[in-house]
Amino acid sequence: MSKVILITGASRGIGRSAALLAGARGWSVGVNYASNAAAADETVAAVRVAGGKAIAIQGDICDEAAVIAMFDATQEAFGPLDGFVNNAGIVAPGSALADMDIARLKRIFDTNVLGAYLCAREAARRLSTKRGGKGGSIVNLSSAAARLGAPNEYVDYAGSKGAIDTLTLGLSKELGPQGVRVNAVRPGLIDTDIHASGGKPDRAAVLGVQTPLGRPGTADEVGESIVWLLSDASSYVTGAIIDVAGGR
Ligand code: NAP
Repeated sequence: MSKVILITGASRGIGRSAALLAGARGWSVGVNYASNAAAADETVAAVRVAGGKAIAIQGDICDEAAVIAMFDATQEAFGPLDGFVNNAGIVAPGSALADMDIARLKRIFDTNVLGAYLCAREAARRLSTKRGGKGGSIVNLSSAAARLGAPNEYVDYAGSKGAIDTLTLGLSKELGPQGVRVNAVRPGLIDTDIHASGGKPDRAAVLGVQTPLGRPGTADEVGESIVWLLSDASSYVTGAIIDVAGGR
């Protein structure tokens, strides 16, 4: 069945892969991004080639008006929402907590926790059958860091993703009776640009060989889990946190 979905941070990386896999199913995708319009336009073109529909929507997930506008734009273009992927997230350069300043801590928690909570709230308002929605599926992007702690690298990021695991558990219980499933995917070392943004472009390649599967994961391998959780094939799955981490 064709679906209308919105993915935050879909211009690059895991969000982009999920958008393309959704496109291959013939779904319609709101492709949110922060600033890289060229990458978002490329994703939109690729979703269309794959067989879906897509529009690019600029908007910072930390900005409430922008979050509301990205949901509005998706629904105006394609109709009522079926699913939401809470994907946009950031890291900062590796550091011990003792060396982190308040600006960094605020940026990480504002984006990865407040931004993601704000987006989940908006998805709940749009999808809940109690509020006039069709019901549907929310997929949150956590991280293996939530259970590993990321010592000396980014305990701030790890904690922000712990909050996403807890959001997933609580919201799944709130929204289950309202027709909405809420799950999380917890990726391990995945080969995307996020590691360069944390100052270590080869981090996934270097550490990936130490995982039980002996390599980093690909964005598509995470995207497959996301699209499955959005799809009706996972209709009895809610409150689940799925590790896609090569056994790490
Ligand atoms: P990425 O390659 O760095 O891509 C990040 C995406 O998020 C881009 O599309 C970016 O838009 C967008 N974005 C960043 N800040 C935003 C904001 N404030 N508002 C809206 N969009 C924003 O990241 P990724 O590796 O695909 O990661 C996706 C998710 O998976 C994140 O939540 C991350 O924490 C999680 N994750 C990743 C890994 C990994 O190894 N890659 C592991 C565990 C968890 P622009 O293109 O406009 O900058």
